[in-house]
Amino acid sequence: MADKLEQNIGLSYVREIAPYVGGRPISEVAREFGLDEARIVKLASNENPLGMPDSAKKAMMAAAQDLARYPDSNGFELKNVLATKFSVPFEWITLGNGSNDILELTARAVAHEGDEIVFSKHAFAVYPLATQAVGAKAIEVSATADFGHDLPAMLKAISSKTRLVFVANPNNPTGSFLTAEAIEQFIEQVPPHVVVVIDEAYNEFLTPEQQYNAVDWVRRFPNVIVSRSFSKAYGLAGLRIGYGIAQNNLTDLLNRIRQPFNVNSLAQAAAIAALGDSAFLKQCYEVNQAGYAQLTQAFDQMGLTYIPSSGNFVLVKVGDQPDSGAKVNLELLKAGVIVRPVGNYGLPEWLRISIGLPEENQVFISALKRILNK
Ligand SMILES: *Cc1c(COP(=O)(O)O)cnc(C)c1O
Repeated sequence: MADKLEQNIGLSYVREIAPYVGGRPISEVAREFGLDEARIVKLASNENPLGMPDSAKKAMMAAAQDLARYPDSNGFELKNVLATKFSVPFEWITLGNGSNDILELTARAVAHEGDEIVFSKHAFAVYPLATQAVGAKAIEVSATADFGHDLPAMLKAISSKTRLVFVANPNNPTGSFLTAEAIEQFIEQVPPHVVVVIDEAYNEFLTPEQQYNAVDWVRRFPNVIVSRSFSKAYGLAGLRIGYGIAQNNLTDLLNRIRQPFNVNSLAQAAAIAALGDSAFLKQCYEVNQAGYAQLTQAFDQMGLTYIPSSGNFVLVKVGDQPDSGAKVNLELLKAGVIVRPVGNYGLPEWLRISIGLPEENQVFISALKRILNK
């Protein structure tokens, strides 16, 4: 009976999906290694070390008084704030249950079995997942020598079957950054039948010199969608909220296939408050800059190779064996430090460290020094 069910449910391409593996929860690591939860340092999921902004917490608490009602399916208030912030029509915005929702909705809206979706090697793990979930073929393009997206090669990889290209800027887990000029040149050459997602989950961590306005491309190109997240710089990962900006046609498609209530009321209220909290964002940026300097100086001292990162995390090479990342990760877990192994990204000698508070970074640095005898 079970065998029969097994044979009959699930499309073959769905069965082949390797499920997403996230950062390990603190409670789980505490149980497994017999550690005190309060002493565990988690630098594994690019979460905001400052926690959620108080302004958002307050707004969320107020919204919690009315949870018997369905959320606003059209996200009127939040979309209005975003439309003003980016000077775009209300109709260009799609809210998502995290920006992952936007990535997945876009794949579902434009690609199906037999189509191709192009992205870079070492790019965000959700791209292959979203591709496989719709039965499309993943075209993974080799990265540049410094682990970044090779946009000219990605352009060459576009065929008549290509429906979608994912570009992450900065990319996770490598932290690599593409200049606005490079992306613009790329978009200008992508055929108009191919949708381009510019995934800007870490945009708020870019330096003023790196900043650019991707919405200008949305204005020029109806095949471009920009996605943004409240999970990282805005500290709302647990609420699951993000958004996409694209012209009417594409936005209209996403709107047709999304769940009617894909973004809950607490998340909508918190996001509006967070968007208005420029002091929090500034503090978050500064903590990140300082933490990046702290971590990379320690790596320099230890003689470890790392990839210059434009996000809130750093990829560091902890050995030169195929199991180096896994081994050091295990030792770090025993020491109560959770980071992210990235073997699933084709980087088994590396670990990704989310940038934390100074004292959290220090706990990690001390543990790493001890483990590597540095
Ligand atoms: C974290 C992340 C996201 C989205 O996260 P959500 O929590 O779903 O908003 C999107 N893209 C990249 C590259 C990320 O690292």
